Amino acid sequence: MGYAWTVTQKERLSELGAEVADEDFASAAERDKAFFQQEKELKKAGRQRLEAYRQEIRRPGLCQLREKLASALVAKGFVEVATPTIISRQMLAKMTIDDEHELFSQVFWLDKNKCLRPMLAPNLYYVSKDLLRLWKEPMRIFEIGSCFRKESQGSTHLNEFTMLNLVEWGVPMEERTAHLAEFAKLVMETAGLPDYELEQEDSVVYGDTMDVTYHGIEVASSAMGPHPLDGAWGITTTWAGIGFGLERLLMLREGGRNVKSYGRSITYLDGTRLNL
Ligand code: ATP
Ligand code: MG
Repeated sequence: MGYAWTVTQKERLSELGAEVADEDFASAAERDKAFFQQEKELKKAGRQRLEAYRQEIRRPGLCQLREKLASALVAKGFVEVATPTIISRQMLAKMTIDDEHELFSQVFWLDKNKCLRPMLAPNLYYVSKDLLRLWKEPMRIFEIGSCFRKESQGSTHLNEFTMLNLVEWGVPMEERTAHLAEFAKLVMETAGLPDYELEQEDSVVYGDTMDVTYHGIEVASSAMGPHPLDGAWGITTTWAGIGFGLERLLMLREGGRNVKSYGRSITYLDGTRLNL
């Protein structure tokens, strides 16, 4: 056995955007030389990306994607809502997320009764209950905003991520699946990922759901109603809804290896590490 990358070297190369393969060097000196050479090239590439960002791109992919998706949805008759990121314990309880629930331990609590929302659904339910009294069905609404979950990290999970949640209320029962497929197509094509797949899944909140995946990575989960959760909100109509993670969409579109560089960050700007 020769000399492998040190943990620090591996981390540094990967945060700079390299795909770090296990390598075997004849000596520590040779390894370190290879490391500095690679780091130098990656830093140079990073500086060039940041220069292009300053000159031409100027806005994070996350902000641009958000706007593109919002425009595409509005063009299809969806209406945007903007609700608070701080929600009450009761709102979560109405989603049956109580201390018995798998998601409960992932919730960031601010005090006894307030938390950072782990999902958009409770607020969408709340707003929809009123709007359904005022507007005729079918009614299409969506929100794009931050959600928070304590996660054991990994390359596809952030503690703070951006969810797009859309729902159509009053969709004819037999058309729910077709509409979900149509919404998935709209979002995935707008995000520049036309090569997605639809898969049957089992969700801890909604039971049976359909997921959207891209090269095996989940990018969205959908659900349909009437649903047992609806009663808590006084909702009786049919619905079809789907929630996407924007950072995952971006990472996959950009061919990145970690969502971290595409989320809200003080160490990355639009996918590029800043300590170059
Ligand atoms: P996973 O099983 O991958 O942890 P999930 O099924 O718990 O995800 P959902 O509750 O279905 O996630 O949320 C809808 C979408 O939001 C996911 O498909 C994913 O794209 C995104 N998402 C969920 N949790 C995170 C996270 N911690 N970081 C980034 N994106 C996330
Ligand atoms: Mg899911």
